[in-house]
Amino acid sequence: MYRPCLASLGANWLALMLCAAGFLPAQSPQFARPRWNAEAELQLELQAANGQRYQLQWSTNLVDWRGLATAASTGLVQHVDTASPYVPQRFYRALQAATNALTGDHIPTAQGDAIMRHFNHATFLLWWNNLAIYVDPTATTYVSQGYPRANLIFVTHEHNDHYNLNALNTLTNAQTVLVVSSSVYALLVSAASPLTNRSVRLLNGQSTEQMGVHVEAVPATNDRHPLGAGNGYIVTLGGTRLYISGDTSASIDRSRITNIDVAFVCCDGRYNMGPPEAAQFVRAIRPKVVYPYHYNQANPAAFKAQVGRDLGIEVRLRPWE
Ligand SMILES: [Zn+2]
Repeated sequence: MYRPCLASLGANWLALMLCAAGFLPAQSPQFARPRWNAEAELQLELQAANGQRYQLQWSTNLVDWRGLATAASTGLVQHVDTASPYVPQRFYRALQAATNALTGDHIPTAQGDAIMRHFNHATFLLWWNNLAIYVDPTATTYVSQGYPRANLIFVTHEHNDHYNLNALNTLTNAQTVLVVSSSVYALLVSAASPLTNRSVRLLNGQSTEQMGVHVEAVPATNDRHPLGAGNGYIVTLGGTRLYISGDTSASIDRSRITNIDVAFVCCDGRYNMGPPEAAQFVRAIRPKVVYPYHYNQANPAAFKAQVGRDLGIEVRLRPWE
């Protein structure tokens, strides 16, 4: 089905691309020679037709391939593999994806990859097992932009950078289930929203199972966010545990925030913990991967530096703001 059409060697790395048989060589996408940035992270660069979408994959043995990211080409697909400093060897390949494939980072689970599409600030979409799972959606334009209607929505708390009733109304249909904090539930009730009937209110420490997704509410609190009003969430997708911090300081009961594969952690330093506190928090939780999000004017690169390299925590910076 696929034949190798380019292999280039750099140091002890082999970047390998397989492309669909039948491609004319002149049209074939090609990896540029591997380069590393100052943090020793491999910078993948694929020269490929503008408008095409590609799934970048990695492997340690050229047999088992894992998704890294799906990306749209602008003539070039660029991706930094932030895991590369922590692994001895990886091979890479790129497969052409459907022209409407959702772009984003791949998060492996026992039931296929979840694709994480970041939007802005505290909002993102997880596409997993044909489920569209939104976290704190606040815009009314996702569906009109071509993103899927929500099957599941998690809302951490009632502030308008996390909860927007118009956004929820445009994103939902009669089957959508919402998992919300007590403060959000109260606002849905007071708005007499039909979404109330499809909302599961979770208090800190409570959990629910919806559409094969397990979600547990954990504390998210600081002097601007009263204890119990909002939630952090631990979401389990095919055995992979994601932690979504919501708005919080590091001074919370962390006893349930264990065995985290991927964490999304606020670090704005104004409404919540800033980069130094968030970095210490993350070092205590020790997720495999962390995304600093909800960072406002704070510098996520400072957070990354403060997390450090010694614990092997992969820090992924995305333009969340
Ligand atoms: Zn916020």
